This record gives sequence, C-alpha cells and structure tokens, in this order.
Amino acid sequence: MKRASRPAIPIRKAVLGLAPYNAPEEGRARKLRLDFNENTVGCSPAVLRALSRITAKEMAIYPEYQKTTKRLARFFGVRPAEMHLTNGIDDALHLISDTFINDGDSVLVVEPTFDMYRFFAELAGARVLALRYDEEMRFPVDSVVRALKQPATRCPRVLYIANPNNPTGTLVQRGELRRILRAATGTLVLVDEAYFDFAGMTILSWIRRYPNLLVARTFSKSAGLAALRLGCLFGKPEILAAMRRASTPYPVNSAALVAAEAAIRDPRFLREYTREVLQSRAMLEKGLVRLGARIYPSAANFVLADFGPAARRLVRALERKGILVRGRRDFPREGFVRISAGTRADTRKVLRAMERIL
Ligand SMILES: *Cc1c(COP(=O)(O)O)cnc(C)c1O
Repeated sequence: MKRASRPAIPIRKAVLGLAPYNAPEEGRARKLRLDFNENTVGCSPAVLRALSRITAKEMAIYPEYQKTTKRLARFFGVRPAEMHLTNGIDDALHLISDTFINDGDSVLVVEPTFDMYRFFAELAGARVLALRYDEEMRFPVDSVVRALKQPATRCPRVLYIANPNNPTGTLVQRGELRRILRAATGTLVLVDEAYFDFAGMTILSWIRRYPNLLVARTFSKSAGLAALRLGCLFGKPEILAAMRRASTPYPVNSAALVAAEAAIRDPRFLREYTREVLQSRAMLEKGLVRLGARIYPSAANFVLADFGPAARRLVRALERKGILVRGRRDFPREGFVRISAGTRADTRKVLRAMERIL
C-alpha cells in the first residue's frame, strides 16, 4: 500500500507525535490465537441465542441503557449511579482524557504496561511520566507514592494501573494500592481489572472509600466478547456524572447490551472457562520453565517468559505453524514473549510446538 500523504489541513501536534499502534494482524480466526489474551473457545452459547432473538425493529432504535445498567450494576454489586458503560475499556480511557486531561497536564504510568494508557494520554496532549518495573518485575510503589505527593500544581492528573498488569501478569497488592490511593489526593487513579476473573482479587468495593478511584472491567477477556466492545467503569457518582457530560450519546451498541445481559445470566460458563484457564496457566508456567525460560508468576490469563536471544526466532517459527504469541521489545532488552493461556489443549499444543523449535 502506498503511504498516504499529509492532508492540507494541519494535524494536531499531539497526533503527529503519536507512535503508530501495532494492531493485531488480520485473519487470526483460524489460527491458535495466544497473542491478545482473548478467550480461545468463544463466548457462551447463551449469548449467541440472545443475539439471534434481536428483532428488526429493535435494530432500528437508538440504544437505551437504563435497564441493562441496572442489571449489570446488581451483578457487580454497585448502584447504577456508580457504573458507566463504555465501548470497551479503550473507550473509557479516551473518556478519562476527554474529561480530565488538559493540554500539557502530566499523567503517570508504570511500564511495561497496557500501551493504550500512554496512547490516549499522548493523544490528549499530556506529558507522560513513566516509571518502570525492575528486572524482577516488581512494582515501584515508593516512587509512585513520591510522584503523587508532589505539590498540586505538579502532581499527575491521572495514574493508570493495570491489575493484574499486562504484559507482566503481576499484581499490585492491596497494601500498596492503599498507600497509593491515600497519597493520590490530586490524582485520579484508574485501576484496570480487565483480568479480574483470573486474579481472584479486586478493589471494586473501594470506590465508596476513595473519591479519586476508578475501577474498570471488560467483557473482552474471560467472557469472550472482544468483538462487541463492552467495558464497565466504576467510581463515585460525581466522577461518572462528569464523564457522562463528555461522552458521546451512544457509546455502546444494543447488541453488546443484549450480549452482556445473557453473559451474566450464565455464570456457569464463566466459572468453568476460568477454571480451565487457571489449570492451563499452571501447565504453561511449568512447561515454560522446563523449556529453560525464565517466567514471572502470573495472576492473569497469560504468562510472560524470558527466552533471551532465542525469542525472536521462536515467535516467527510458531507463527509459521499457525500459533500466534506476542513478542515484546520494550523491556530493558529484547527476549520477552507473552503467551496467552487458553484451554489445556491449547497449552499442550503451543508447548509441543516450542519444544520442537527449540
Ligand atoms: C485487553 C485489555 C483491555 C481490553 O479492553 P477492551 O477495550 O475492553 O477490549 C483493557 N485493559 C488491559 C490491561 C488489557 O490487557
């Protein structure tokens, strides 16, 4: 494809400065997808049945959110005013920028982490202060607290934490989160719990305790609904009311609402898939160690492994066999591979392929 030349209209400076995003390759459906931490078996059959019952007339009507919000809020154990539905967590990040970040504000991230935090912050014209996990993948909690305790004019506007973190799989513990939230008097703290189901830990109920806390969940991972884009943002009603003012009127489509309601009515599917993944993850961790990789114990549905100089060849050879995993270059050095845990059959397949390659 030919590179598009610039349009005659000047582009915002923040946009010109963005690094291009590496979107997943197209045509992944028939491969073994262990590169984006998706559900590998698909959503609950009950979701498909519910979607097939949508009528032509319902399709013609703009989405209505009240009823689904009420049902989802009850499922998550919050009040409807404490929850806001978004077009995936990605859209929630965009909305956080639109509501709270002025050009030139600073935001805080701890890298490596989910790339979209930096992306949406930079898009909004924010300065990104990036602390780093160390070689042992430990979260630098003291430095984070120090950054939050700066005078109000200099402290970051937003702090983004993925918990468990992607791509390290590590957890920030409750005690550390408590220290952070107490220090964050002038900073909005987003705790992104996209992998909550695999972690067995949440601070969702803390939204009542800390006025600057937002918690995010998604139907993209354990529930297997990445295609429909549905995220849930939780926080104090005042914060969410401000965000609704900045939101597009219909961020979530009606099919996603129907799917989410069907998904929460089938908790057994979620429970069984989660249990399968946890067994598969244990098998993956053991297998990777046997292959000589250094791993970082994971609380999510993926494992980060350090293969050193063999990593690049490994990722390419797996791809030729139709198995997609994620090579990461943005660590202190190259050599890290993130592999999603699907079913145990998926894990057996990827381990066997890696054995042959190495
Ligand atoms: C995959 C992932 C998401 C997904 O967000 P959606 O936009 O809801 O699909 C969010 N946060 C983290 C840390 C992730 O890894």
